[in-house]
Amino acid sequence: MDVRPVIIIGTGPAGLTAALYTGRAMMKPLVLEGHEPGGQLTLTTEVDNFPGFPDGVLGPELMANMKKQAARFGAEYLPVKATAVDISKRPFKVTTEKGDVFHAQTIIISTGASAKWMGLPKEKELSGRGVSTCATCDGFFYRGKVVHVVGGGDTAMEDATFLTKFATKVYVVHRRDSLRASKPMQERAMKNPKIEFIWDTEVTEILSDTAGVTGIKVKNLKTNVVTERQTDGLFYGIGHTPNTGFLSGQLKLDESGFILTQNGPETNVPGVFACGDVQDSYYRQAISAAGSGCQAAMKAERWLESEGIAH
Ligand code: NDP
Repeated sequence: MDVRPVIIIGTGPAGLTAALYTGRAMMKPLVLEGHEPGGQLTLTTEVDNFPGFPDGVLGPELMANMKKQAARFGAEYLPVKATAVDISKRPFKVTTEKGDVFHAQTIIISTGASAKWMGLPKEKELSGRGVSTCATCDGFFYRGKVVHVVGGGDTAMEDATFLTKFATKVYVVHRRDSLRASKPMQERAMKNPKIEFIWDTEVTEILSDTAGVTGIKVKNLKTNVVTERQTDGLFYGIGHTPNTGFLSGQLKLDESGFILTQNGPETNVPGVFACGDVQDSYYRQAISAAGSGCQAAMKAERWLESEGIAH
């Protein structure tokens, strides 16, 4: 049986940094890229807050370079998704969507998180034609238009504020009468003259024609009155779901499904490490994900050493 020193699942900044570090530690990482290689950063445009790029860098370019850099130190990539793991005994087992099975002494999980959808009829088919889960990716297309943002957390506030760069008016539709967002983000959004809040309200229907979204139906949850509102865009800022389904309960997760870690990237199973957004619902930054990928790689290497496993 061929047992790899390490398999890395997921290729956002966390996974690719783990690939770089384990590659340089001569661990010959096998990296399962998944269906969205590069992760959420490939959905963004300019990244201005990754240190080392004084003029900013395009998200897809940053990820392509991270991939190339790790490849230079021996990272091997497979463009497949991991669909199951067996971490109940060693060596660990990873099964892909193609049915291939790989064995490894350590696993680094960096599968990230995906934006939540509301589950309204037609929302997926209208994605890219008025419905969006990524303001940074799509905001540019709403120059001079009217948009609605759903949510009351930091994501919704950040998205609404960002969208005012393009849209003439941004309405925030929130299901309660107080925000979950942090105080500074709330204040910034509330002070912005282009942003207006619609409280105690949920979106019940998306209206569209052949070109895309034309409006929404909203219901006031206190009065039950339903009204129609004209809009060119509907942005969901209602949080993220960690991509942990393939673990089928083998690791301890928090109540929202994020992997519980301690001492940095350690999970409750020795030899299995997690990094990036799959275990972090708070920072969710490229640089913090990359930092945790470095930690996961170093812990994996030291764990192999402590177990006396040559690599
Ligand atoms: P949150 O879970 O904090 O907020 C989600 C919001 O969406 C809540 O207001 C929630 O309403 C609402 N919501 C959830 N589901 C629905 C639904 N089906 N219909 C309507 N509304 C819904 O997620 P965020 O993504 O905003 O933030 C996650 C974490 O990331 C937080 O810790 C946040 O601080 C952090 N973050 C930090 C940023 C920064 O510092 N720059 C930027 C973005 C996020 P309700 O309040 O009623 O539950």
